[in-house]
Amino acid sequence: MNGSPDRDPPPGAAVCDDPGIARRLLIGTPALLATATTILGLCLPASAGAAFTPGATTLGDPLFPQIGNGGYDVGHYDIALNYAPATNSLGAGTVTTIAAVATQDLSSFTFDFQPDLQISGVTIDGHAATFNQRDAKPRLSRNPKVTQPGKLIIVPPAGIATGSNFVVKVTYSGVPEPITDADVSIEGWVRACSTPGNCDGSFTVNEPIGAQSWFPCNNYMTDKATVSTEITVPNGYTALGTGELASCVAGPGETTTWSWTEDDPTATYLTSASVGRFEYDDSQTLFDPTGSVTLPIYAAIDSAGPASAKDEVRDAASQIPSGINFLSRRFGPYPFDSVGYVADWVPAVGYALENQTKPHFAGDKRGPVVDPGELVHELAHQWMGNDVTARTWQEIWFNEGWATFAEIYFDARVNGGESPKKFFRTVIRSKGKNFRIAPADLGSAANLFSGFPVYSRPGAMLEGYREIVGSKRFFAFARALTTEHAYSTISERPFVNAAVNGSGLRPNAAGKLRTYFRQWLHREGKPTLTPADFRR
Ligand SMILES: [Zn+2]
Repeated sequence: MNGSPDRDPPPGAAVCDDPGIARRLLIGTPALLATATTILGLCLPASAGAAFTPGATTLGDPLFPQIGNGGYDVGHYDIALNYAPATNSLGAGTVTTIAAVATQDLSSFTFDFQPDLQISGVTIDGHAATFNQRDAKPRLSRNPKVTQPGKLIIVPPAGIATGSNFVVKVTYSGVPEPITDADVSIEGWVRACSTPGNCDGSFTVNEPIGAQSWFPCNNYMTDKATVSTEITVPNGYTALGTGELASCVAGPGETTTWSWTEDDPTATYLTSASVGRFEYDDSQTLFDPTGSVTLPIYAAIDSAGPASAKDEVRDAASQIPSGINFLSRRFGPYPFDSVGYVADWVPAVGYALENQTKPHFAGDKRGPVVDPGELVHELAHQWMGNDVTARTWQEIWFNEGWATFAEIYFDARVNGGESPKKFFRTVIRSKGKNFRIAPADLGSAANLFSGFPVYSRPGAMLEGYREIVGSKRFFAFARALTTEHAYSTISERPFVNAAVNGSGLRPNAAGKLRTYFRQWLHREGKPTLTPADFRR
């Protein structure tokens, strides 16, 4: 049973005066907000500057034109949440502070933000701004169950000149609602309930657009930013944000504020603010020899789970160090400063997600679950997906292809599981109708997590490429991607160029390799080129 707020902290629940805190305080370095420029001193009033125009209300994603905003670039999010698990509500003191730089002369600009939370004020560099909210356009789905994305429109008291740094504070409160996706799965701020009515906090899984259900943001991966997350919760609850724990401080009214900092650029869909009665442990570390760094491991398991389920979670999670070491030898040094996981008990979610530094596992009806294969999949995403991110949602094949490949390759090499070559054969020999949706032309947001085109086929495409060029060149290619596109995004063209350039093939065969990738990514039918066509 999940607890009510008046219960004592379960064994293992963190308390703020424990001896671990002093060490934890040394880990994080709070990111600094960009220096604010006084807009009133710099800029023309919006009405006086004909050149000052509204920022774009889309970043033109083929599947999600509702998402993303132009005219500025976010450098840092500081998300302060005052959360009451008993009512699943955000109260006074909840404010998101966004440090950005203008990339055009702005008369107004927008954030992605759902209308379920009530905004009490918006300031820019301390000056009150006017704001309103509306649905983003166009309609995402005809299905009335699907959540329509919202926009927060902000009009500064004076225009913001291109190149100016500015700081926006949005103060809000209320009950965040999860987002229902086009495939009718739920994401974003999900109330963490093991059964209906048995709820102990929040479970944040934001892919693709869920972040805007709990903080205003430029909700698109081309605008990565550093993040600090301060979550105030009643004593006895643990709150997990993105990155490393900077402090854990007792506050008034029997509350504790957990402050986390992530100083590596983060896509909004990979952020966390998960709260619950967790068995929490940050005493473990792992050593990544490729980067010569020791990383803290933050572990959180829903304390209400059956003991056997929690033991199985710990057993699976004990593979994190060897999994990270296996992957870093192939993909390059681990890209972030900590690792960990949240094994919650929220069966309504039904999937795991690769939240940056802390993969989230939703568990099933019986309790928290971390599947060992899924764990490797989510760890592989830390490189492929989180560090190097697909540039559009149409290109999610990049994230999922690599994670699927890594899961199979690891299983074969470490556990003696099915060989990657056999996996390739199974995929290419499977029913023709599996191939109707092309990975790079998904056609609809409802196909975003479609198993065959998004996971299996791109995973097999990568395995086929490995068979064509050999493991040495293949993993050199992977490391080139994580070097050249670190903390950034990648689209299809540079991916294919790098694969061809790193192939060592002569011009004729290199041309055939381009056709191979085109077929595997774009053909609405079975590809005809396989590794057998490249054997000399
Ligand atoms: Zn994945």
